[in-house]
Amino acid sequence: MRLQSYVAGRWKSGEGRASQLHDASTGALVAEAASGGLDFRAMLDHARDVGGPALRSMTFHERAAMLRALGKRLFGFKDEFYALSHRTGATKGDSWIDIDGGIGTMLVFASKGARELPNSRVYLDGAVEPLSKGGTFVGQHVCVPLEGAAIHINAFNFPVWGMLEKLAPALLAGVPAIVKPATSTSYLTELVVRRIVETGLLPPGALQLICGSVGDLFDHLGCQDIVSFTGSAATAAKLRTHPAVVRNSVRFVAETDSLNSSILGPDAGPESPEFGLFVQEVAREMTVKAGQKCTAIRKALVPEARIADIVAALRAKLAETVVGDPRAEGVRMGPLANLAQRDEVRSRVAELARESELVAGDPEHFEVSGADRARGAFFPPILLLCRDAAKSRAVHRVEAFGPVSTVIGYSNIADAIALARRGEGSLAGSVFTADDDVAAELVLGLAPYHGRVLVVNRHCAKESTGHGSPLAPLVHGGPGRAGGGEELGGVRGVLHYMQRTAVQGTPDVITAVGGRWARGSMERDPGRHPFRKPFHDLAIGDTFNSADREVTVADIERFAALSGDHFYAHMSETEAARNPLFGGRVAHGYFLISAAAGLFVDPGYGPVLGNYGLDNLRFVKPVKPGDRIRVRLTCREKSLRADKGWGEVTWDTEIRNQDGETVASYHVLTMVSVHAVPDAVKE
Ligand code: NDP
Repeated sequence: MRLQSYVAGRWKSGEGRASQLHDASTGALVAEAASGGLDFRAMLDHARDVGGPALRSMTFHERAAMLRALGKRLFGFKDEFYALSHRTGATKGDSWIDIDGGIGTMLVFASKGARELPNSRVYLDGAVEPLSKGGTFVGQHVCVPLEGAAIHINAFNFPVWGMLEKLAPALLAGVPAIVKPATSTSYLTELVVRRIVETGLLPPGALQLICGSVGDLFDHLGCQDIVSFTGSAATAAKLRTHPAVVRNSVRFVAETDSLNSSILGPDAGPESPEFGLFVQEVAREMTVKAGQKCTAIRKALVPEARIADIVAALRAKLAETVVGDPRAEGVRMGPLANLAQRDEVRSRVAELARESELVAGDPEHFEVSGADRARGAFFPPILLLCRDAAKSRAVHRVEAFGPVSTVIGYSNIADAIALARRGEGSLAGSVFTADDDVAAELVLGLAPYHGRVLVVNRHCAKESTGHGSPLAPLVHGGPGRAGGGEELGGVRGVLHYMQRTAVQGTPDVITAVGGRWARGSMERDPGRHPFRKPFHDLAIGDTFNSADREVTVADIERFAALSGDHFYAHMSETEAARNPLFGGRVAHGYFLISAAAGLFVDPGYGPVLGNYGLDNLRFVKPVKPGDRIRVRLTCREKSLRADKGWGEVTWDTEIRNQDGETVASYHVLTMVSVHAVPDAVKE
């Protein structure tokens, strides 16, 4: 019955007084949790000394492959996770968000890691910054993993997603995690961690778990550790001012409770699709997870003239909600997480009701399906109407963390924005309008106070992911009351776990540090044409200097005829002469790119499999008939796709004229086989 913590590679039972964890519907005891007697300092040491080095020895791509394998394995345990998830009060749909949503998030990070991060251990942030006239002194931002532990403190509402959405970016960055789930639903997190550990896919020390309180863990935090917290603003305030956090400037990311608004546009009358979509979304946000979502809609802002219609429509919609044990047939909304949470929500509703009127639901009288109402943490959907939101305070401050929302009327767009902003920092806002100008005005008005803004209309509604869903590729977090933190957001979320350092020195130093050739670094003689070299033989800096060729009027005309591009600047001397940039006829930029390929390509069959694009193309100086061009092609960056038998090679490419001036600059992206004779790939 007693949950165990996973400490320095061993499952351990905590000692001392335990918290009793109950089934949210039946009140039956599920487990108990205590963390007394655990050595929290040893946990940090294990993460720093064992987990960190193991993860840092892997490249981003290796870590991404590990996450992908883990995500796939976790899907195999879903039935077991779902069965236990019901005990937290989650319906099947709620569990899908938590479990499939959590694993899906991990898989998105796996694929982002493989596609958007290099197959190396250092992430280069941005381009080389020129810092000197002669080019001998330049700068480059590099990101390296923090060498401490990531402390993940999670809320009770998403015991799986809450863990995985933080774990995936941390592991991808190369930072080990110590997970501390909210105690009340930690039995589900414990089960998932057990399955993760059993897969053996994570290196030792990469993941540890605390079931129970964190003891003296915070006293031992240092400057390389990072805390990522989800929960109440009060706990966040307490933890971020912990002496060790303050003394060591421990990075602290917080997602806290916030009041989120959804706005119905002034154009959306009762007959419009947006009106129906708005009603559907508000009702869904109130009832999914029994409204226990940090992103749920607490304020439904509608034009004053639409209040009666919206209240009537929401009342009808909410009446369809069957509350009860999520295991029972037909139940649409489960109980709150526990009785304490139910009592908390009830008292928050009473606070709100002092300034608002109750227009749907009754906290004291409601039906419960398949369970004993007195034993479970049941609470019905409650809709309030605030008639004077400008004067009201509670509706902008009090969060009832349950199936509770308040309808508020607004007079015009500026008023709607002002009312939404009175939440003083929110995780998510949404707008339902078919008028794109209204959408733009609302979005820009909401943006400074919101981490994410969703606009829904008839065109995207079917595919919309909804108001309340944080997504792995987009940032999750918000200013002010929402905690001031930011998570997820693809690679952005990974960088939270890394130190960004500005490195200054010669281009050769920058190349050596980052593993990416910086312009001005040594150009190596490859000994043969670099297109003859298989992936592993290519060295960063291998350079090919082409012969030169003249660009003629005949070239320009032939290219125009072939491509159909007869733009006057290429075709007419008199019109081109009037162009202030050219002052005369010039070659097509795309001809130069093609001619350059003709100059640098080695045509014979060999390890270069293909060219998949150009990056950062700039035409710097026009080329006129009679000019002579030549190309420098330098191996800039290599990234092995080990499972594919080839790697991506980026070539720094410059086309210069007869005076040595750069006329075009770009990166050529190629796939290069690991075999000299690529047929071998198929063997
Ligand atoms: P808490 O802030 O009490 O708990 C959040 C997490 O912090 C839990 O894991 C909790 O552990 C832990 N914690 C609490 N005190 C300490 C401490 N002194 N040191 C270290 N860790 C600590 O929030 P609740 O989960 O109780 O939820 C309360 C409110 O938070 C909700 O009503 C809601 O307003 C908000 N909330 C916000 C969410 C968001 O995503 N922004 C999500 C969920 C809730 P333990 O469980 O052991 O106390």
